[in-house]
Amino acid sequence: MYKLKEFKIKWGMVIDLDKCTGCGACMISCQAENNMAPMPDATDKMYSLTWMLVYRLTNGKSFPDHDVAYLPRPCVQCGNPNCVPVCPVIATTKDEEGGIVSQISPRCIGCRYCMAACPYHSRYFNWHDPVWPQGMEKTLTPFTSTRPRGVVEKCHYCHHRFKAAKEKARYDGRDPMKLGEDDYIPACAENCPTGAITFGDLKNPEHKVAQLAKSPYAFRLLERLGTDPQLYYMSKREWVRRQGDNYLEHEPTKGV
Ligand code: SF4
Ligand code: SF4
Repeated sequence: MYKLKEFKIKWGMVIDLDKCTGCGACMISCQAENNMAPMPDATDKMYSLTWMLVYRLTNGKSFPDHDVAYLPRPCVQCGNPNCVPVCPVIATTKDEEGGIVSQISPRCIGCRYCMAACPYHSRYFNWHDPVWPQGMEKTLTPFTSTRPRGVVEKCHYCHHRFKAAKEKARYDGRDPMKLGEDDYIPACAENCPTGAITFGDLKNPEHKVAQLAKSPYAFRLLERLGTDPQLYYMSKREWVRRQGDNYLEHEPTKGV
């Protein structure tokens, strides 16, 4: 597997699945923040671009034991990203200033090798040029470029917000590589009404995310693939943790 060096800062998330209500505010705020055109039909996979996608999980039991959980899934920002080494034009890289996996759309030739390589289905291909209904183009922001048809796109933890936070730190005379946890926060985490998404530097013990990631209830998606995601989930419900890491029936759950 492609092994990358460790970085000083590791931006990461912990999503508490016991707090997530599946409201979809993270999906909508992501689309608004990153200039995604409204979808004519969200079930049409030729059009839908959902960098943040909320999945519905169920324990498969009938009433009164039935239980559901909602699992928001952005790019998990792998430490060993399968998508990076397969790109023939270096249109996707692992950022050395925080470990975020980038997507450089003007360089992308649309071969979609990265989509085939990503085990999390976190990448999306633009089959069509984006279309904004009349008037809605006013919602476009200057922070993220729009993407034309023929290129791949994905979540990058609102990287423009990271750049802005570094600029502000420099302006204030602070070290841009020692940002506080409130200095940089992606749109999804900022807009989650239940506070289910915690964001920060996994390597900074002062950041809440670093403590939550060590919880006995924390797990990562398909952890045993060795992709080393910078996104953690947590749930006190054992069946949720087992589904998240694809346990086989006979395997004991790790942690508590
Ligand atoms: S689709 Fe773009 S990013 Fe993905 S492998 Fe091809 S060129 Fe690289
Ligand atoms: S989740 Fe997929 S797109 Fe994101 S870094 Fe990992 S392999 Fe790449």
